[in-house]
Amino acid sequence: MKKGILIHFGELSTKGKNRENFIEALAKNINHALKGLSCEVKRDHDHIRVYMDEVPDEALSRLLEVSGINRLSLFYECGKDMDAIRETALLAYREDGGKTFKVETSRSDKSFPLDSYALSRDVGGYILRNVKESSVDVHEPETRVRILVTRPCAYVYAKTIRAAGGYPLGTLGKVLMLISGGIDSPVASYALLKRGIAIEGIHFAAPPYTSEEAINKVKDLLGVLTRYQRKIKLHVVNFTKLQLAIYKEAGDPYAITIMRRMMLRIAERLAKEKGCLALASGESVGQVASQTLQSMVAINAVTSYPIIRPLATFDKNETIDIAKKIGTYDISIRPYEDCCTIFTPRHPVTRPKIDICEDIEKKIDFEAMVEECVQTAETILIGGEEE
Ligand code: ATP
Ligand code: MG
Repeated sequence: MKKGILIHFGELSTKGKNRENFIEALAKNINHALKGLSCEVKRDHDHIRVYMDEVPDEALSRLLEVSGINRLSLFYECGKDMDAIRETALLAYREDGGKTFKVETSRSDKSFPLDSYALSRDVGGYILRNVKESSVDVHEPETRVRILVTRPCAYVYAKTIRAAGGYPLGTLGKVLMLISGGIDSPVASYALLKRGIAIEGIHFAAPPYTSEEAINKVKDLLGVLTRYQRKIKLHVVNFTKLQLAIYKEAGDPYAITIMRRMMLRIAERLAKEKGCLALASGESVGQVASQTLQSMVAINAVTSYPIIRPLATFDKNETIDIAKKIGTYDISIRPYEDCCTIFTPRHPVTRPKIDICEDIEKKIDFEAMVEECVQTAETILIGGEEE
């Protein structure tokens, strides 16, 4: 008897005529996630089936991280004779381990001699006769035994696990993620990817104040994230000239605010060039001076692009827990300096005013420098070497 993992789509079903594209993208992502494990992936209009001789925990844990999967079930494929269906249902029921149960049937093969109700009753009776302590509960069963009767065969499953949800990666479009070497932005990237939003990264470097090691850190962080998105483009912006100009003109309290406004100007232009529909960052409201709501207003004012901040309401400890779980934490705490930490002012303003920002910026001839940053950004493909 063939068996494996049945993939349920969930939210996908609302997507009407895009459905085919979504399923195709998801099947591709599933193949990528299961790389190295022996399996065969097949899809139809309602499910994706991953056939495996044995289902290792490793396969389940990898699939639990794939966006666009609503639930996973362990399924069996059997012939359409009653004996086979009964035996398989009994096996699936036992595997799930609940005491109370309900059998639910759906038939796409309407020529099957029993209708759904009769088939469920028959199989339910068989389980009751064979498992002494079992009983039927049609309202809140511990185990739902499901039977799908299709033209070529029947599928039977019971054990079901809730999965990541969201949409297949890439089908929601792409955002430009501002990624530093810190703890937050990789976790924010993960949150986007988990939802199905693809990313390109933009990193601001200030050589020689920042080292090559700082860029390697970002590359390594994105390398971890290629588990969720096979290839990630990283655009490294040389920010030195502009940053020095800012620190010359802005003065201590406003330096960070102006710097962030410049970052967003550059990111927006690059996003436009690369077809990214929004920007994203690892900011969390209130975490530091530049992340107060007043700061966000002043910084955000330079762009009309949406900025997605997945960690907006996260406590740092929650973020650290996720960073440890996904394996970015140890990379993030490597000591190399980031362009922000090198020029950290002693007394950053916590309630910056937009008109003051604009006055300061008039003194910096920033337009050409911003454009130069965009045009000289170096693009690195992370995860590009493997096919
Ligand atoms: P992180 O841990 O992500 O660095 P943080 O708590 O240290 O975040 P900040 O350094 O204030 O916070 O940065 C806030 C956000 O701005 C970051 O999450 C990131 O999205 C963006 N950012 C900061 N520095 C850079 C940089 N050098 N290049 C690209 N984006 C950056
Ligand atoms: Mg930082």
